[in-house]
Amino acid sequence: MRLSVPLFGKMYGVVYVCVWLYWLFVSCRACGGAGEDDLLLCRSCGHEIASDSDARFIASRLALSHRNNTIIGDKRVPVQLFENPQGFQFEVVTFRRADVFKHWPADKHFTWYPGYSWTIATCPRCSAHLGWAFQPSEWPNTVTDAEFEESEQTFVALIIDRLLQENFASTLLMTPKSFRS
Ligand SMILES: [Zn+2]
Repeated sequence: MRLSVPLFGKMYGVVYVCVWLYWLFVSCRACGGAGEDDLLLCRSCGHEIASDSDARFIASRLALSHRNNTIIGDKRVPVQLFENPQGFQFEVVTFRRADVFKHWPADKHFTWYPGYSWTIATCPRCSAHLGWAFQPSEWPNTVTDAEFEESEQTFVALIIDRLLQENFASTLLMTPKSFRS
């Protein structure tokens, strides 16, 4: 059967629209469309540490200051500035959970969150110091990872300049066209 010219023209139009829709779909995914999680990576080794959907603002009256920052995906996430007893300052974002190694026993002293004890939190792959994990101070000084993860009363404060956004990292890792064979 031979295709008449008008029918061929229609088919060409349908194919063109399909290709255009596919391109739209792919480009929306590539730019991290609404509803997609953005991952935060360890800046030292690239290990996946936390997801933007787990960010949860826990305000502390001991913070020196706080500001809104658009660091995580398209979410505005408050960043708090803290100072430790040695005078070092850290800007942190708080999360419900994060894939960090917690160094129990927890310490009640010099806490930035009254009523909570803290442990140092490091990257499970490269051991870089990424922040602190907080648990209620009435808890035992040492708990299991599962007890920490399952509780709604625990959280993790991560130092923002020790993290990298996955979406941003992938733009850095794209190979320039001139390097492709
Ligand atoms: Zn790491």
